[in-house]
Amino acid sequence: MSNVAPNAPRLIDPFARPITYLRVSVTDRCDFRCVYCMAENMTFLPKKELLTLEELDRMCSTFIGLGVEKLRITGGEPLVRRGIMTFFDAMSRHLDSGALRELTLTTNGSQLERFASDLYATGVRRINVSLDTLDAAKFQRVTRWGRLDQVLRGIEAARKAGLRVKVNTVALKGFNEDELFTLIDWCAREDMDQTFIEVMPMGDIGNEDRVGQYWSLKDMRATLAERFTLTDLPESTGGPARYVRLEETGQKIGFITPLSHEFCESCNRVRMTCTGELFMCLGQEDKASLRDVLRAHPDDEAPLIRAIEAAILRKPEGHDFDYSRQKPDGQVSRHMSHTGG
Ligand code: SAM
Ligand code: SF4
Repeated sequence: MSNVAPNAPRLIDPFARPITYLRVSVTDRCDFRCVYCMAENMTFLPKKELLTLEELDRMCSTFIGLGVEKLRITGGEPLVRRGIMTFFDAMSRHLDSGALRELTLTTNGSQLERFASDLYATGVRRINVSLDTLDAAKFQRVTRWGRLDQVLRGIEAARKAGLRVKVNTVALKGFNEDELFTLIDWCAREDMDQTFIEVMPMGDIGNEDRVGQYWSLKDMRATLAERFTLTDLPESTGGPARYVRLEETGQKIGFITPLSHEFCESCNRVRMTCTGELFMCLGQEDKASLRDVLRAHPDDEAPLIRAIEAAILRKPEGHDFDYSRQKPDGQVSRHMSHTGG
């Protein structure tokens, strides 16, 4: 493989898709307990199960050496992992070398006031902040432990630090349906892009109701079209998001519909849990435990590279979030906070 350029994709799956995007969950812990994501009394993993920051570095650097050029750090809440800025700092060397094109994260925003400037300093330029409502009481209801003012201050700090913020909103019928235009107007005023996500059936979230019910983005789109002229944008990030522009405001709005299969053919990503398990598809249970290989060979990258390459060759064509396939409701038993959203 010595004739391959350092950052040319070397991970090609059986359907000829180059894998250039790695999402890494760095912790299963979180300071919120969003009702669609976690039960209130979660049992978290023992520390020794988690990849250490050094192991995360080795793992991500190996992927980058294999052509991964976009790294998204997620969780749980990535910014509650102790020492996480050391890891971001370490990853910035790959931005400096040009091997990595983008280092980014998805966060609930609670710790941004503290970390925004440091993130910018490590080379992060764009972040996703999850926010489902602008109503403080509703915010507390959906996150159970979160405080809206803290997140809004975090977003402000991020923007002041020079980070571009995209707002991720889970669409919950009967919960934030009535806030659709309020949220859109707010994002327009603040010049932030926004993406709506259909709620996915993942993990045991306890006996709570899902706050709202499933709100199809098709219905949301129809509501948006009553007030705005929607133009479909051809761009794709190789993931489940589709984008439209609202002509009246120029805003870019994304829709993530994980239950549809449309996007699988252009899938460019894999996900790694905080314990070093690689999931080749968000909607499938198949995984490869890379942590065991990494720990068994502390001074030799070759076995890890072979394990990653073998895993990519098992990447399935598409997922099973389909109410008619394989499982009764296509539910995946793991939590989103484990695989990382
Ligand atoms: N804690 C961070 C956050 O909330 O942004 C990162 C991890 S969180 C698991 C990543 C994304 O997954 C968030 O935008 C969250 O709203 C979304 N998410 C969690 N559970 C979900 C579910 N059951 N269906 C759809 N989206 C979900
Ligand atoms: Fe925490 Fe994010 Fe899950 Fe909410 S969605 S409980 S913030 S990991």
